[in-house]
Amino acid sequence: MSEVYQKLKKIVSEKFVSNDLYMRHAYSRNVDPVLQGIPEYVVRPKDAKEISEILKIVNEENIPVIPRGAGCCEFGGSKPIGDGGIVLDMKRMENIINLDEENLIITVEAGISWSKLNEYLSQFGLYTGCMGPGSGLTASVGGGISHHSVGGGGCAKYGACTNQLVSLEIVLPTGEIIETGSQANKYSKFPFNRFGNGPDLASLFCGDNGIFGVKTKVSLQVFPRPDFANYKTFLLPRKSVEASVNIFTEIRKKGVDVYDAIYIMDLLVSVGCQYGLFPLWDNLKRKRGVFFYVIEANSEVELEEKTKQLDNILLTNKAEELGPEIADGNFAKWHYTEQGHWLFAHNLWGVVPGFEPLDAECHTPINSYPAILKDLDQWDQEHSEEMNMILEIAGFRPITGSGPIILIDGNNVEFTCGFTSFASYIDGKYYDIIRETNIKLWKSILERVTKWGVQWYMMGEIMSRLMIEIGAYSEEYYNFLKSIKKTLDPNLILSRGKFNF
Ligand SMILES: Cc1cc2nc3c(=O)[nH]c(=O)nc-3n(C[C@H](O)[C@H](O)[C@H](O)COP(=O)(O)OP(=O)(O)OC[C@H]3O[C@@H](n4cnc5c(N)ncnc54)[C@H](O)[C@@H]3O)c2cc1C
Repeated sequence: MSEVYQKLKKIVSEKFVSNDLYMRHAYSRNVDPVLQGIPEYVVRPKDAKEISEILKIVNEENIPVIPRGAGCCEFGGSKPIGDGGIVLDMKRMENIINLDEENLIITVEAGISWSKLNEYLSQFGLYTGCMGPGSGLTASVGGGISHHSVGGGGCAKYGACTNQLVSLEIVLPTGEIIETGSQANKYSKFPFNRFGNGPDLASLFCGDNGIFGVKTKVSLQVFPRPDFANYKTFLLPRKSVEASVNIFTEIRKKGVDVYDAIYIMDLLVSVGCQYGLFPLWDNLKRKRGVFFYVIEANSEVELEEKTKQLDNILLTNKAEELGPEIADGNFAKWHYTEQGHWLFAHNLWGVVPGFEPLDAECHTPINSYPAILKDLDQWDQEHSEEMNMILEIAGFRPITGSGPIILIDGNNVEFTCGFTSFASYIDGKYYDIIRETNIKLWKSILERVTKWGVQWYMMGEIMSRLMIEIGAYSEEYYNFLKSIKKTLDPNLILSRGKFNF
């Protein structure tokens, strides 16, 4: 065994380091289809101290390290870029460290999943507000903070999960351990506030896609789950995209306090029904766009008032309410009461074996997405030759469109768009041409969407490099980013290759 292996073994013990071939291959993948490199070692540390020791060694040996939560990044974020290096699997670090019930702050290890964290909080009538990403059943809190994740419930009310961040414990790429916010004052007994003690350094690590440090401890605000909630689902009129924009805009303009407001476009409703994704809408005669909302309140009177305000907006936009029960098609009820906010996205991935969502998740102002959707139709037509080639081999023409469009804080939506294709393994045969075409088309659609000025929040390998390749960052901005990276990580150890570092 190599000297590095021996050193790693000494730090984490033999059980938690591996260079077995199957293990290395397993950790070479995220949910996206791109194979970009196979790590040399997989290490599963138990605490910040072990991570610090690992990082000191790899700096001496010049070995890149890539932190990984649950590996759900859709853009190749938590796997190596190029062969070699170490994948730092954070999933062993999933303990709850402290619930400060008085100050409503929880401190956890970064590898804990959103579902485990919220299951724990539910015993106290609490929740995290933003329930993390749609992948929250498995995705980790550290991964969420590294992505500014949003989309797993509660986003219209609470925004992205980084809004709730109070403090972080970080192992810097060179091995030093720091704490941010109130904890920058070593006399502070417990985390209570993010801002102060100088600049907000926690922000530097929010949405950093794992390039500036390894998050080991996360303190988040938590909230009492209100006693009352209402959830309704509506079928939209024929021009559902325009109707959805009006509804989102009116919700914001009228200042209605909504927990979740989500639009599912016509194409997704009809294709989803065809492939068994929405069994509760099987009986819908017209497979049109759907809009649903969830509201929360502290009293029946408040709930009634908010329901009235929202229904008024929906009905004046000619939406038709489906029934109150899940069996009547009330997706909102399933979404809020049955953890549909996490199940929905997981189901999307598995809907047809071999389906591959090649998507683009970004933030964009409410009034901008109709034009982007039209442009995506145009993009699809411009690429019909490649699409038809895939149709001929796979018997399936890729579908371009949008996933659920979710109201988030401010006047923004989380906008998931892209295309769904078939992976390259079909009926026992491997098609390189499909893999290559999928990736070429994917980069092309990402470039097209970027040029609408959207804001990416999960970047991984693909988006972070594409931004540089298409010149989306100004030179000054990119140089500034590079100089921070060089200062924190002079040997470019962490997530080497991202943002072309
Ligand atoms: C079915 C499905 C649905 C999804 N829905 C959403 C959604 O609604 N909203 C959304 O935001 N995303 C979504 N995603 C993408 C992704 O799951 C999330 O962004 C999630 O937050 C990633 O968490 P993870 O633990 O899997 O992180 P990983 O994918 O393992 O890592 C993500 C990034 O964070 C870094 N990282 C992970 N842990 C640490 C750490 N402790 N310290 C430093 N860096 C770290 C990694 O290097 C990587 O760059 C979805 C993915 C799937 C498969």
